[in-house]
Formats: sequence, C-alpha cells, structure tokens
Amino acid sequence: MKNNFFEIYNESPGKQVFFHEQILNALSIPVIVCDKNDRLVYFNKKFNDLAQHKISLHSSMKEIINRSDWDNWNENLFKLSNINDNDSCFFNIRFNAVEDEIKYFQLEGKVLQRDELQKPLLYFFTAKDVTKQFTLENKDVLNCGGSAIDWKNFVSKTTSEKKLELAVKDLDRSNKDLEEFAYLASHDLQEPLRKITTFSTRLAYKFEKQLDEEGKVYIDKINAAAGSMKELIDNLLQVSRTVQHVQPFSKTDLNTVLNLVKQNLDLKIEERDVEITQDQLPVIEALPSLMLPLFNNLLSNAIKFSSNDKKPVINITSREISVEDKNNLELPLNRVYYEIKITDNGIGFKQEDAKNIFKIFYRIHSKTDYPGTGIGLAICSKIVAKHNGCIWAESNPGKGSTFFIILPKIQDIKL
Ligand code: ADP
Repeated sequence: MKNNFFEIYNESPGKQVFFHEQILNALSIPVIVCDKNDRLVYFNKKFNDLAQHKISLHSSMKEIINRSDWDNWNENLFKLSNINDNDSCFFNIRFNAVEDEIKYFQLEGKVLQRDELQKPLLYFFTAKDVTKQFTLENKDVLNCGGSAIDWKNFVSKTTSEKKLELAVKDLDRSNKDLEEFAYLASHDLQEPLRKITTFSTRLAYKFEKQLDEEGKVYIDKINAAAGSMKELIDNLLQVSRTVQHVQPFSKTDLNTVLNLVKQNLDLKIEERDVEITQDQLPVIEALPSLMLPLFNNLLSNAIKFSSNDKKPVINITSREISVEDKNNLELPLNRVYYEIKITDNGIGFKQEDAKNIFKIFYRIHSKTDYPGTGIGLAICSKIVAKHNGCIWAESNPGKGSTFFIILPKIQDIKL
C-alpha cells in the first residue's frame, strides 16, 4: 500500500498538487493564502463553505474583507512582515458574506514566502469562525446594559474556558449561599443563647439559697460555656459582615488609612516603643471602611507578636508590581497592581503555617501569652479578596514575618 502511494505521488508534480489539495480540503479549518498585492491565491473548501461569498482565485482580499476592517488588515500585514517567520499574528477580521451578512473570523497569519529583500510575497492564514460567539456575547452584554464589545480586541472562548467560567460562577454562588447561611445561623443562634444566659443567671439569683456548692459550679460552667459561644458567634458574624459589606468603591488614600490605624494603636506603639518606617502608599479604588480593619489587624499583630528581647521595628513598603510579577501571580497584565509589604522583626512562625493562619480561628501561639481570637487574618483575607487582590505571609521563627498584600489600583467591577 505504502509503495503504491509513493509510486502514484511521485508519478508527476500534478499528482502531488492533487494530494496536497485533497489534504487541505479535508481540513475542518478554513485556510487561505494571499499574495503581497492582497490577491487571493488559494483557499480550501472549508473557507469557501464558511465565507458564503462568491470568491474566486485572484479576487482582491478587499472585496471579501468588510470595509471597516481594511485598516486592521493592512496593520496586521505590516506586523506580519516584521515578525519572525516561525511566529504567527492573531487578529480579527469581518468578511462580507452573501446578502449583506457579515461573518466574524479570527485569523492566525504567517508569512509563507519572502523575496530576496525579505519582503513578504505570500501570506498564509487559518481562520476560525466566531460569528455565533461574538454576536451572542455582544447581545448578552448589551442586554445587561453594558456597551458593545470591541470587535478588534474580542477573544472567543473555547468550550473548556466557558465550562471553567460557569464552574467559577457556580462556586461563587455556593460560596455566597454558604456565607449567607453562616450569617443567618450565627444571627439566629444569638437569641437562644441569650435565653440560656438570662435563665442561668436568674436560676443562680433566685435559688441562691437552695443551691449547694456543686450546683453553683454547674451554673458557673453553663455561664462560661455560653460566654465562649457568644464570642464564637460574634466572631463569625464579624467575618460574615465583612463579606456581605456592600458599598461603592471610592478613591482611598492608603496613607490616610495608615495614619488613622497608627493613631488607633498609639498606646500600644508607645508602650512597646515600636519604631515604624513607611513608604509613600498609593491611592487606590477601595472600600475605606474595610481598608481600616485590614491594616489595623496586620499592624496590631506585628506589635502583638513582637519579641521581648528586641526593640520592635515595623517596615511598611509599597511598589507598583512588574509585568513579570503579574505573570507569576497570574494577574491581568493590563491592570495596575500595588504590593504593600508589612515586615516585623517579631517572634515569627514556621513557614508551613503561612497558609493556615488565614483560616478562621487558626492560631499558632498560646492564648495566654498572646491573647486573640484567630479571626483577624481571616477577615484580612476576605477584605483583600473583595478588592480582587491577594495576601500571603512569609516568616521565619525568631526572625520576623512579612505580610504581602496585592491590590489593584482600579476596580473593574463597581459595587
Ligand atoms: P489573632 O491575632 O487574634 O490570634 P489572627 O487571625 O490575626 O488572630 O492571627 C492568626 C495567628 O497567626 C496568630 O494567632 C499568630 O499565631 C499568627 N500571626 C499573625 N500575625 C503574626 C505576626 N506578625 N507574627 C507572628 N505570628 C503571627
């Protein structure tokens, strides 16, 4: 069989062209080739089917391309002439189809042949028909009161990307449901708890004389347990309120926020003789009422977890993050992000605990030596997530800790 094929293939150049033509026509991807004068020199069957345009060889590409995309076409041919032949150029082009219909295509272009001066002679394109996706997504956006999608920058999503987007939406919804549930449950638990405390107090008061020592101990235990439960519920409510907090983002000067936090902590700062150095912080779009607890929690932890044998020093630095960092953190490249670092020289913790400390009620150090509830960092993490940013910590026991916060300058989604 193999011999037969090669025998036929090598029979004449015409046979080879025939085979190549058959392969290109069997492709489910539209393919076109045009020359330096914008003339169509090849198109496969799939392109002919999709373009629904009476195209023929030697037609000018300008007859097929919608007039509004002519400049776009020229710009991209120019781009192609300047890139390496192994690289491609991706761009969007509208084609005229039958009966004034417009077809939306995403093209991937390459230079197929160059002359001796390295000027392109032939361009090769594969095309993806995105007419359905573009019109549907545009309609959805317009129906939701948004402005029309910019065709030139439209990127069609693959089915797996769409599935992922739907899964994220589902997850968001179930997270919201859970948060609502946590809020309602903790809110509703307050009332029976109040009753337990009220009646155990009444019991102790009214039956003081009848109760023996053992009975009094039991009532004290009921009150102590109710007190701990109240603390737990209050903390849960505080976290839920942070998440449910709905207010518009506004321009927030983080220098002002930090000054307020320092004023709030001035007694502790004085008491421990804490030295604080700080860079100029940025002005960002944020919820000022949430920026305060964020910086307050981080700064008060840096003071609380300071070493007894060193003068506490806290450095607060700020910088706009680089493209490389955005790539590493998988952040959109077209948005400005700031990194704010809060470094202390305190007791620190093992790096393996760095993720856990952002979980609600997780504490590393003993409550007797370092009082606290274990919700401060959980709230910080919720606040940063609400601002489309991220937070993490690096630490070394005995040497100190650094908390990193990444926040965007502008919020895309206005609340
Ligand atoms: P809390 O401070 O009320 O205990 P947080 O949620 O703020 O709760 O912090 C959780 C735990 O993370 C703390 O109990 C402590 O063990 C650890 N931690 C937080 N900040 C620091 C810090 N700057 N240095 C050392 N440990 C810290």
